Amino acid sequence: MKGEGFTTSIVHSDRRGDVEHRAIHKPVHQNVAYGYGETAALCHAFQTGGYTYGRQINPTVGALEAKITQMEGGLKTVCFSTGMAAIGTMMFALLRAGDHVVSSAFLFGNTNSLLRSFDERGVAIDFVDATSVDNVAQCLTERTRLVFVETIANPRTQVADLEAISALCADRGIVFVVDNTMTSPYLFRSVDIGASLVVNSLTKYIGGHGNALGGAVTELGNFDWQTYDNISPEYRSGNSSLWGLTQIKKKGLRDFGAALGPEAAHHIAIGSETLALRMRQQCANAAALTDYLQAHPKVARVHYPGLAEHPQHERAGRLFRLPGALFSFELDDALDVFAFLDALDVVIKSSNLGDNRTLAIPVAHTIYFEMGAQRRASMGISESLVRISVGIEDTTDLIADFERAFSSLEAK
Ligand SMILES: *Cc1c(COP(=O)(O)O)cnc(C)c1O
Repeated sequence: MKGEGFTTSIVHSDRRGDVEHRAIHKPVHQNVAYGYGETAALCHAFQTGGYTYGRQINPTVGALEAKITQMEGGLKTVCFSTGMAAIGTMMFALLRAGDHVVSSAFLFGNTNSLLRSFDERGVAIDFVDATSVDNVAQCLTERTRLVFVETIANPRTQVADLEAISALCADRGIVFVVDNTMTSPYLFRSVDIGASLVVNSLTKYIGGHGNALGGAVTELGNFDWQTYDNISPEYRSGNSSLWGLTQIKKKGLRDFGAALGPEAAHHIAIGSETLALRMRQQCANAAALTDYLQAHPKVARVHYPGLAEHPQHERAGRLFRLPGALFSFELDDALDVFAFLDALDVVIKSSNLGDNRTLAIPVAHTIYFEMGAQRRASMGISESLVRISVGIEDTTDLIADFERAFSSLEAK
């Protein structure tokens, strides 16, 4: 309901919607087909986006979509099997050969790789440093259809110039897509700065428990799709704010088929109930750990928007409720990073992020290995950079774990 807090509105969302038998959770509808006694009812379902076939529609997934829409303050959401499916399908549905896209250069590695595939297939992509709107403005052309940025980049935590880029896109009639995965709708709502579409990997903070993959695209209602040439004639009817998302759902989800399963949707929906609680603890832990590491004589650099030294510290403070739960750091050159990580006991060596457990990964040797040293250097990723996705553990246990790792190195 209007004016209600973030958590209240999410935990009561199912109950207020269309729920069977007054169940408090939307049940898991492990179901593919929907049958009708009357032919006319079946035809009506096909013509109005009703219950037809599980690749396009499922009640459990629908209940999750309603929650994401509510969290983001948007108009409507479509869920996908993963965050990458959400991004890839959205791009596939909205772009044509000859179009041009501007993307942040500081990007989740697989998104970067995906955009390069689009580039090889006729959609030109420019990667720019999106911490300043000038870099985006400089490469806009008449063919630019879409600008794509992440809120806080992983792993170096650069914060995009979100407000100015959004204003620029609005002025030029360009679709502005924000990947909100790193902040989640609890820390940041792209609707407030006028973005067109927001993408979330539900696998990360929204689900939170590292037990289900999922993705979502939410229409925020700020873009006039009547001006967007790539919308096919069959989707140019009804509320024009939804034309883009309708095309993503039909040409994308239906035809490409990366549907979210009901079981995963249920896990993610349960996880989303505690998003705010988890985020508060995770961000508090991140603040404590980065303060500790920043002051440590064996640490060369810490990258976290919550630190006063961070280049976009002020911007992060203005835009985000809290500065996030992910940071990266570099040890002194003389220290062995792998030995340091091996000495951690609470912190797990793992590539996920947004989990309840604190996870560490040496970036250059893993998630950014494929792109090679030259591209890593151009993205500001040093060979010794370690990324930490901070979990909900007790703060003192995390600090003690890092302390133990430092002293084990000294003992050698
Ligand atoms: C993880 C991630 C994705 C992809 O999500 P999956 O659910 O793993 O496919 C996209 N963007 C960002 C910023 C991510 O961290």
